[in-house]
Amino acid sequence: MGHTCSAALLKCMDFRLTGDTCRWLEEKGLVNDCDIISVAGAAKDLVENPEGYVFSLIKLSVELHHVTRLIIMHHLDCGAYGGSAAFESLAEEREMHRKEIQRAREIIRGNFPAVVVESYFLSPEGKRWTIETM
Ligand SMILES: [Zn+2]
Repeated sequence: MGHTCSAALLKCMDFRLTGDTCRWLEEKGLVNDCDIISVAGAAKDLVENPEGYVFSLIKLSVELHHVTRLIIMHHLDCGAYGGSAAFESLAEEREMHRKEIQRAREIIRGNFPAVVVESYFLSPEGKRWTIETM
């Protein structure tokens, strides 16, 4: 039996995201085909420590499970970044996350050129989170 999977998901550990993230993985056919790296702030540690712990987990996923796709999910009101209260506006908050994801993308591209990076942004809508590409 092969010991590979197609993707790794780098997401925030925030419990509020779990249900909608799992539903999304199901919709995409990625349940049991995706390593899940769940840490505070998703790409935050990777950006701050480009050779740190989160990087080592992605490296393991690529080398051990041969993933060719990294999915990064950031979200609104992320406590690791001080929550929405730390920003003047939603636009400013989104822009900061967009830049963080861009830096993470560059780190991945520089180390694993064969890995395709996809990124998504989650926003609360009622009791659910909408997941859109970013
Ligand atoms: Zn978060």
